[in-house]
Amino acid sequence: MGLLVEGATLTWEQTKELAEYVHFHGIQQFINIYNRLKERQRDVLKWGDEVRPPNYSDVYLPLALILVTRSHRMIWHPEFGRHMVEGTPGKPYGGTMADLNTVEANMRLRREEVLSVLQEDETVSSITVYPRFGCPGFTWPKSEVPAACPDAFSSLFVTSNVINTHPRFGTLRANIQYRRGEKIAINVPIFRDKNTPSPFVETFSDEASSRAALPDHIYMDDMGFGMGNCCLQLTFQACSISEARYLYDQLAPLCPIVMALSAASPLYRGYVSDIDCRWGVIAASVDDRTREERGLEPLKNCKFRIHKSRYDSIDSYLSIFGEKYNDLELVKDEKLYEQLLQAGIDHLLAQHIAHLFIRDPLVIYAERIEIDDEQESDHFENIQSTNWQTMRFKPPPPNTTIGWRVEFRPTEVQLTDFENSAFVVFVVLLTRVILSYNLNFLIPLSKVDENLKSAQKRDAVRQSKFYFRKDIGTGGNPELSCCCPNVNNTDSDNEEFNTDNEEFTLMSIDTIINGKEGVFAGLIPIINSYLENMYVDVETRCSIFNYLRLIRKRASGELKTTSCWIRDFVAAHPHYKQDSVVSDRINYDLLVRCDRIARGLEDCPELFDKPINKSKLPTQPNGPERS
Ligand code: GLU
Ligand code: MG
Repeated sequence: MGLLVEGATLTWEQTKELAEYVHFHGIQQFINIYNRLKERQRDVLKWGDEVRPPNYSDVYLPLALILVTRSHRMIWHPEFGRHMVEGTPGKPYGGTMADLNTVEANMRLRREEVLSVLQEDETVSSITVYPRFGCPGFTWPKSEVPAACPDAFSSLFVTSNVINTHPRFGTLRANIQYRRGEKIAINVPIFRDKNTPSPFVETFSDEASSRAALPDHIYMDDMGFGMGNCCLQLTFQACSISEARYLYDQLAPLCPIVMALSAASPLYRGYVSDIDCRWGVIAASVDDRTREERGLEPLKNCKFRIHKSRYDSIDSYLSIFGEKYNDLELVKDEKLYEQLLQAGIDHLLAQHIAHLFIRDPLVIYAERIEIDDEQESDHFENIQSTNWQTMRFKPPPPNTTIGWRVEFRPTEVQLTDFENSAFVVFVVLLTRVILSYNLNFLIPLSKVDENLKSAQKRDAVRQSKFYFRKDIGTGGNPELSCCCPNVNNTDSDNEEFNTDNEEFTLMSIDTIINGKEGVFAGLIPIINSYLENMYVDVETRCSIFNYLRLIRKRASGELKTTSCWIRDFVAAHPHYKQDSVVSDRINYDLLVRCDRIARGLEDCPELFDKPINKSKLPTQPNGPERS
């Protein structure tokens, strides 16, 4: 989670004083990188995944620190919670098809490395949200919140013992609240079951919580409830800045689709909720906007009315093809925007950066204030790394051989290395077909935002419809023409075309992923036609088949999403009282089950099929397996 520097961080008062300084120099650092590397071409495809599995060992353990010293093959980073660790492959994957066949083994190694430093009664799970995070006694050693809260911002549920001891994390947590001027407030709708009290109302000891908690919602009041959650992120290096901008734009409308497919987080603070994904919870958990910025009070002391949290969906496309779909009001720092234009940066890129820079720095390291803007980028990264959006456009860090990159950030982490690899390979292949066939998924960003809301709803894969582009074969990058066979078989008489005269229409996830005759070719069939024209060794072909089969069946509803499976587990548990409560016992049994599945000790046919081996590989990619 961004810049980790040894050394002390400044207080909030000192940080505020330096905001303008960080903004000015951060922009200057971006300009320097841009000018030096804008012409950089022919970087090859490299990519990597980041899995953030929390360590549910029930013990506070500076896990990442132990691992950093022991590990050569993998890279481990500390994360927000002391129960978490982030692992990336030791070096990025390359552009060959065979690389796709190394992901799962690499993830397995990472899991084994973590397990190897744990005690026998400890484990590591790749789960998105710990179901009883914030409940009494949810950690070991126990860390109860004091009966009387020490200050107006302190959480009723989470103590600082849960937060990583690196100064960055505690400082972030404190300064987000100071800046906001109020306690964090997260409200998630409760899942209404037969015996759930109606209305569902909890009473809290402090006034701020009583005011902020909504009826029929699960209330949470700390950054840990959001940034204590985990995910699967993917970073791609593009061959040039313009390819990176094109890819950033094209992947943005796919974020809600992949989020819904990967849904894995229905339980919060010991209750069953009515949502399936973590996204909105994290957004609220780091919402540092003041009341003025949130539009609750007229602007007086603050500069901008800001529409979203720092953790939210993107607000503008970056490529010229995306410009006409930029229909969200983009708040930007005009002075910094001018500074960027003056330096020769075009309007679209300048407004993107000037928009990120409406945010104040939250963490400043005392020793890293006066730095060389030609050689360093700390101040730029300071703002960039605390804009946690669905996509991230990443300039090359100075003095490295790294190129222009984009990061794909919506995916929820799955229980097993197999499922996580399936999502990784699916998204990597999507980038390959987007670039090879010059596809175009762009729709207005206001529609992408609507999709992101729909994606988090309970059972979105089967119940929600998503705005999706009808004709993905034109306009992607007008300099190239689409060369993909059969991407446009749209038929305007079809019932799914209820938004006539528009470039987009509402589709189900099944239609988007698997295609529907006369409506849309489907992402998997497009990927398959791409694969037919590629040389892929049979082992890799077999793995890809297994991965894409998982995505196909999740999309069609034949297999459950992780979220749906967790809900069903709770509902069927003998101790569950149909009252939306996830007791300690249910939580424990669920985690043991997840652990056994992740270690391969138990199958879970509702979540994934057993992989087939190469002798059963069908000749038709979507066809039945040979028996
Ligand atoms: N843990 C966050 C998530 O689940 C991501 C935080 C980060 O990128 O640093 O989306
Ligand atoms: Mg990351």
